[in-house]
Amino acid sequence: MSVVPKKINVKEVGPRDGLQNEKLLLPTEDKISWINALSRTGLSYIEITSFVHPDWIPQLKDAQEVADGINRHPGVTYAALVPNQRGLERALSAGIDEVSVFMSVSESHNRKNINKSIEETFPVLQDVVDTAKCERKKVRAYLSTVFGCPYQGRVEIQDVMRICDRLFTMGIDELSLGDTIGIANPKQVDELLAKLLPRFREGTIALHFHNTRGMALANVWSALQHGVATFDASLGGLGGCPYAKGASGNLATDDLVFMLEQMGINTGVDEARLQNAAAFIEKRLGKTLPSQQRRLQTATQGGDSFVR
Ligand code: MG
Repeated sequence: MSVVPKKINVKEVGPRDGLQNEKLLLPTEDKISWINALSRTGLSYIEITSFVHPDWIPQLKDAQEVADGINRHPGVTYAALVPNQRGLERALSAGIDEVSVFMSVSESHNRKNINKSIEETFPVLQDVVDTAKCERKKVRAYLSTVFGCPYQGRVEIQDVMRICDRLFTMGIDELSLGDTIGIANPKQVDELLAKLLPRFREGTIALHFHNTRGMALANVWSALQHGVATFDASLGGLGGCPYAKGASGNLATDDLVFMLEQMGINTGVDEARLQNAAAFIEKRLGKTLPSQQRRLQTATQGGDSFVR
């Protein structure tokens, strides 16, 4: 009997994960308008920004202004990334609903990304989790390089499991497993989830796929077979791959929603409104986004010569 869920939570990470990889600095009011458009699509979770030090990611230095400026829809959770206690304090004062912490499975990526060893990272995250829990906020953790590392290559399942165990022991509510370099294949996803999922409470594992090599939707299908019901995605596939100039990064929300709805799996997302929100951000960024849905829209509506 298939365990494929009937309803999927799509977590939109475009305003954070997508924009942080964009060179063009988007004006704050455009970010606010875009998040407001996303809020009208039926998405129930939007990661709107990151409270990292402004010098780290200049694109997201207006985190406070964005959080203050958006219209908050009932039924939508507005989340933000926080690297440490200081970031958490800023997120809390900005009235963020949920926070996300992050680290990597591979030592080399963890050091490059957050300038700490894996062992040095745990206490920093524990502080964030403890304080967030006191404030009755849910905490999600992103785990990067789960399926492969840009520096050390292969990543062992045992290492993934060891860090997942530590993070849940810390008190996180949800763990998002990241295919940071878009190297995962459906068989690898199947093998990892078969070992990993029985260890944790149902519904606490999410997947964060990248489409760098065109395998993201196949990997989603593989995870669906295990009953995974939460997937991260970025509208239009916004946000290139930080390790390969010009390559695509995040799984596109519009491609994910299209596939799921075609299969009769409910996402709660209105596809026409999603395309409107995508068209808005494309106009502001001055480019067509890499999702199949956006390319199709552009080809059929733009009077271009692709479709004859
Ligand atoms: Mg990503």
